[in-house]
Amino acid sequence: MRRGICQKTQECLQIMKTDIKSLTLEELKQELIQMGEAPFRGGQIYEWLHVRLARSFDEMTNLSKALREKLKERFALTALEAVRVQESKMDGTKKYLFRLSDDNVVESVWMRYHHGNSVCISSQVGCRMGCRFCASTLDGLERGLTPSEMLDQIYTISLLTGERVSNVVVMGTGEPLDNYDNLIRFLRLLTGEKGLHISQRSVTVSTCGIAPNIRRLAEEGLQITLALSLHATTDEKRKKLMPIANKYPLAEVLSACAYYFEKTGRRITFEYSLVGGVNDTDEDAEELIGIASHLNCHVNLIPVNPIRERAFVTPRRERALAFQSRLERGGVGATIRREMGRDIDGACGQLRRRHMEKKME
Ligand code: SAH
Repeated sequence: MRRGICQKTQECLQIMKTDIKSLTLEELKQELIQMGEAPFRGGQIYEWLHVRLARSFDEMTNLSKALREKLKERFALTALEAVRVQESKMDGTKKYLFRLSDDNVVESVWMRYHHGNSVCISSQVGCRMGCRFCASTLDGLERGLTPSEMLDQIYTISLLTGERVSNVVVMGTGEPLDNYDNLIRFLRLLTGEKGLHISQRSVTVSTCGIAPNIRRLAEEGLQITLALSLHATTDEKRKKLMPIANKYPLAEVLSACAYYFEKTGRRITFEYSLVGGVNDTDEDAEELIGIASHLNCHVNLIPVNPIRERAFVTPRRERALAFQSRLERGGVGATIRREMGRDIDGACGQLRRRHMEKKME
């Protein structure tokens, strides 16, 4: 029998290593103390990771070679590899497909707006929520992303574009409130003053409506924006589009949103994907006014991005505009989301899906 560490053991050792980028500054200092090093080294390393966006320990040139070797033994340092980049000819939006260390892939989007650059990140590999119009959920959930993997999407895009990221939206593949602890840790690392220090008010987390976790989020002392994927105005209609509506009825979800506003003072965003002939009638608009006028909120109308696997159609432009003006007349602020990157598989999960299909061929 050949000697040496088998492949499996090596994998296990890799898994046992601590994920250094997911540690808080305090935790990192404690680790350094345990290694017999001065705590300020923790501060230096934290800066390399979260400000200078280092992708390897060897970049950390103000640390001795011996310490860098010790770090390699003890910690795993995640770094994403861009396997595909698609750039929209319409608006410059870029969609990235990133490979994770376990060979899974996730997608992230970079968008340029008047008020700054925005990155939309994934929070899970796949999704188990099953929303009917969404491509991310067609193959179910593979796993949740670690805090470092969520940060890496932003850090890598920042390195690749050479531009500052000012807004972050957690609206890519996955349900962030189904990966709760990792999400909260990610948010604290992202907005912490010793890291990239993105303002909490410039971060939006979008959920399909996991009511108990909306209430938990309200208690975290964060100033982020909560976006609720509403998409329909009655439980009956919502259940047809979103299976999660069977578990958490609209009344429970809306009351959790009201609680979020009460606790944080942050206006809620309702996302409403307009699906032709399904939820875009005048009656739907009136019902939406009935719901939205009770809450301090803003409605984001998203003309549905049709996916090949389902027969949903985008309403005509005039219908979307009529829906919007009806809401406005009813006293509800509403915008129609600019359809960025439609020419580049812009809908959630489409790029990853194309990639997986190609691999299967
Ligand atoms: N799981 C979270 C975040 C991911 S999806 C959530 O449900 O909110 C981000 C937003 O895009 C959600 O509002 C989602 O319902 C919407 N969405 C997904 N696929 C879409 C499509 N094909 N067309 C329009 N909106 C879509």
